Amino acid sequence: MKKFTKVILFGILFSIFGYGGFWYSTQASAETYVWSGHWDYTYKMEIRFMNNVTGNTKLRSLVNNGVYDNWNNKTSSINFVSTNSATGRFILVDNVDFSSVTWSGKAEGSSTNWDGSYHYNGVKIKLNEHYLDGYTDWKTLGVVAHEFGHAVGLRHRELNGRGYLMYPNDSRTVNAANSDELGVLKNHYNWHGCQ
Ligand SMILES: [Zn+2]
Ligand SMILES: [Zn+2]
Repeated sequence: MKKFTKVILFGILFSIFGYGGFWYSTQASAETYVWSGHWDYTYKMEIRFMNNVTGNTKLRSLVNNGVYDNWNNKTSSINFVSTNSATGRFILVDNVDFSSVTWSGKAEGSSTNWDGSYHYNGVKIKLNEHYLDGYTDWKTLGVVAHEFGHAVGLRHRELNGRGYLMYPNDSRTVNAANSDELGVLKNHYNWHGCQ
C-alpha cells in the first residue's frame, strides 16, 4: 500500500514537472510560428474542407490543386479531405471580389476560433478575385496554400523573407511550405498528443 502510494505520487510529480516541463518547452519554442489552434486528429487524421468557390471555375480548381498538390502531397502531417456536408468542424473556402481591401486572401478564425482544447471550431478562407484574377496560377496556388497554412495554425514569418509560404506578401518565392515550416507543423501536431 505504501509502495503503491509512492508510485502514484511519483506519477503525479512526473506529470506536473516532467511531462509538464517538456510540454511547456516544446510549445514555447514553436509558438512564435504557430497559434495554439490545431485540428483534432483523433478521428482518422482528416481535416475537412469545403470548396464553396462559385462562378469561377479556374479558381475553384486551383483551390483543389493547392490543397492536394501543395499540401497533402508535401507532408504526412496534414491530410485535407473534401466535404460537401456543412456539419461539424471544417474549413470553408469562399471567393469574394473586393477592390476596397488590400488582401488577396484571408483565413478568418485561424487566430481565435478554437475550443477549450485548442481544437478549431472552424476556419473561413476568403479568396479575393480582385487580385487573384491577375495572378499566375503558380502565384494563386501560393495564396491558397498560404491561407490553408493559417487554417492549420501557422502564423506569418515576417523576418525570414520570401522563401517561406507564410511570408505575408504575395511576392513569396515558394508556393508550398518549406522544410522549416513543415517541421514546425509536425511539432505542432505532435506535442499535444492528438495523433
Ligand atoms: Zn497571411
Ligand atoms: Zn489536440
